[in-house]
Amino acid sequence: MGVFSQELPLKTRERLELINITGLIEKVVEESNFDEGIALVFIPHTTAGLLINEAESGLLDDFKTLLKTMVRWEADFKHNRIDSNAPSHLVGGLLSPSLSIPFYERRLSLGTWQSIFFVELDGPRNRQFKVVLYGETKLPSITGQLSKEGD
Ligand code: ZN
Repeated sequence: MGVFSQELPLKTRERLELINITGLIEKVVEESNFDEGIALVFIPHTTAGLLINEAESGLLDDFKTLLKTMVRWEADFKHNRIDSNAPSHLVGGLLSPSLSIPFYERRLSLGTWQSIFFVELDGPRNRQFKVVLYGETKLPSITGQLSKEGD
């Protein structure tokens, strides 16, 4: 079992935004030397989160509506005395800062309708996320090679 990690920058453009980062994570897995293992995705932020769901544009708008209405953004929160982003922290606290996704044959084993999203709650900002792979490389077995030659 080995470990490979990569830090990726992400520029967000809106206050509330869902950014599909599935392809970026798949690329890290594809370019690693591991055939199978676990991909851990982590964000070092308190006003953002990670989410796995369907990449359908109407649903993504619905998620934005949910994020906008789950707290009263204009309310007089205590944290706003030192920083004007209390609602971003509150919603961010309900999302996870990390996800673990298994991969096999260098491909994330996501369900057909699953995509991975970075959820910006206090943008636009320069963000980042880390992808840590715990995996191993499968050496082709002798029996596998023999059966291939027999084909
Ligand atoms: Zn703050």
